[in-house]
Amino acid sequence: MCRLNVFSRACLSLCCLLSLTYFFLPRSPVFAAEKIVIYSARNEHLIKPVLDRYAKETGLQYELFTDKEAALLVRLKAEGKNSPADLLITVDAGNLWHAAREGVLKAVDSKILKTNIPAHLRDAEGYWTGLSIRARTIVYNSKVVKPSVLSSYEALGDPAWKKRLCLRTSNKVYNQSMVAMMIHALGEKKTEAVVRAWVANLATPVFSNDTQVLEAIAAGQCDVGIVNTYYYGRLLRDKPKLPLALFWPNQNGRGVHVNISGAGVTRHSKHPEAALRLLEWLSSAEAQNLFADDNLEYPANPKVKSAPAVSTWGAFKQDQANLAKAGELQQAAIRLMDRMGYK
Ligand code: FE
Repeated sequence: MCRLNVFSRACLSLCCLLSLTYFFLPRSPVFAAEKIVIYSARNEHLIKPVLDRYAKETGLQYELFTDKEAALLVRLKAEGKNSPADLLITVDAGNLWHAAREGVLKAVDSKILKTNIPAHLRDAEGYWTGLSIRARTIVYNSKVVKPSVLSSYEALGDPAWKKRLCLRTSNKVYNQSMVAMMIHALGEKKTEAVVRAWVANLATPVFSNDTQVLEAIAAGQCDVGIVNTYYYGRLLRDKPKLPLALFWPNQNGRGVHVNISGAGVTRHSKHPEAALRLLEWLSSAEAQNLFADDNLEYPANPKVKSAPAVSTWGAFKQDQANLAKAGELQQAAIRLMDRMGYK
């Protein structure tokens, strides 16, 4: 029979002690029963599965509060230091820029975010980062229009498109961001001329959403328009026979206008490290498809492939200008569209 010597017994005791310690001592803060509060303007059905996966992997508990972007911003400002929020998730760089400007976000310096997310999709000072890309591109009636006659957003103002263009209202932040980025690329004078020409080419009054633009093109009310690709994807999923196709404009120039959905750690977060770790995980390969695919968006992390349905739309060159400009030039864009009669 094997007899343990004094040294072996001591080792065994130490092992027992370490095992017990492992099971009974509290774990590191992120993995303990820590609870973070997330304010999200992104729909619950899109964000909850992602958060649930993270919660399952790490043991982190979370509380999710969803509302419109504007309401969340008002709430964060009103709550101030007493805000329970740790992370703000929203759509459109213009909204994220505005949130940072209003002082409700906290700057972070994260190597992981800098590695995973390209510079043009995140704030240079670290207040917010993009997590998925939404491309706003040209859509056309494939029975009427040959793609060879399309080239750029600007060219939709050519006389050839007289009474053939449909647009969504300029009240929508997507169009405000698009025109703001155009001002950044072309300057105010040239952008004015483009918007004036678009308005002159409208076939119908502006629509209140992208799906209506798509349906009007499919119904022959107009031949071309500008929409976010995920609306196209959703509509075609339900009605695959609609005569609609996407076109990637400005491929010999600055590229397709992209925007983001993204997030930032809140200024008065009580758990900023846990919130940052979640944000970093959302930028990782593991989370990116969960975050982007359900809404047919593109992963912001370029190492991650888009969903098969999205990949069929083809590759495109995207505008590499930093999306902070969508916020900085938003007011200029709103004024310009107003001056040019873009309702
Ligand atoms: Fe949308």
